[in-house]
Amino acid sequence: MTKLNDILSFNENFVENKEYASYISDGVPSKKIAIITCMDARLIELINKAMNIKNGDAKMIKTAGAQVDHPYGSVMRSLLVAVYALKAEEVFIVGHRDCGMNSMNPEKVIETIKSRGIDESVFDILNSSGINVAKWLEGFTDLEADVENSVNVVRNHPLIAKDIPVHGLIIDPKTGKLDLVTNGYNA
Ligand SMILES: [Zn+2]
Repeated sequence: MTKLNDILSFNENFVENKEYASYISDGVPSKKIAIITCMDARLIELINKAMNIKNGDAKMIKTAGAQVDHPYGSVMRSLLVAVYALKAEEVFIVGHRDCGMNSMNPEKVIETIKSRGIDESVFDILNSSGINVAKWLEGFTDLEADVENSVNVVRNHPLIAKDIPVHGLIIDPKTGKLDLVTNGYNA
């Protein structure tokens, strides 16, 4: 069975048995918060349990490294929608220990891309259009500093109202323990 068929056949039973019933909620986050965190598979359930987030409680924006690295990229766009269209009043940026984006080697990723049949010339063409793939894929080296940097991108964003607290935290993917990096109420 393929992964797709696996999911589709599971889903058929899920809906048929009304397993969705306990998850019903509307699209407005009942805790009025938005969370930006990493796509790490270890966090799928853990982060919700560790932060007491249930279905319907929060807008959850997931991106590699929990990085808000572009003030006009899709993460920031999602956050603006969460705040101004869906009533999120506070923002939590949650990086995590042992993150794959910490000290990730973009050159190694590029080598893997090339080994899958993407020609060298593609990188040259992108480069001449101003897209440096290595720079684009780059992660970070200091987790605390990176969370703080993402928090500052949001806090200083010209479209983010000054009364929106933006907190920075780090979660341990083993224990779920949260460490505070920066408290948005004091900013
Ligand atoms: Zn990560």
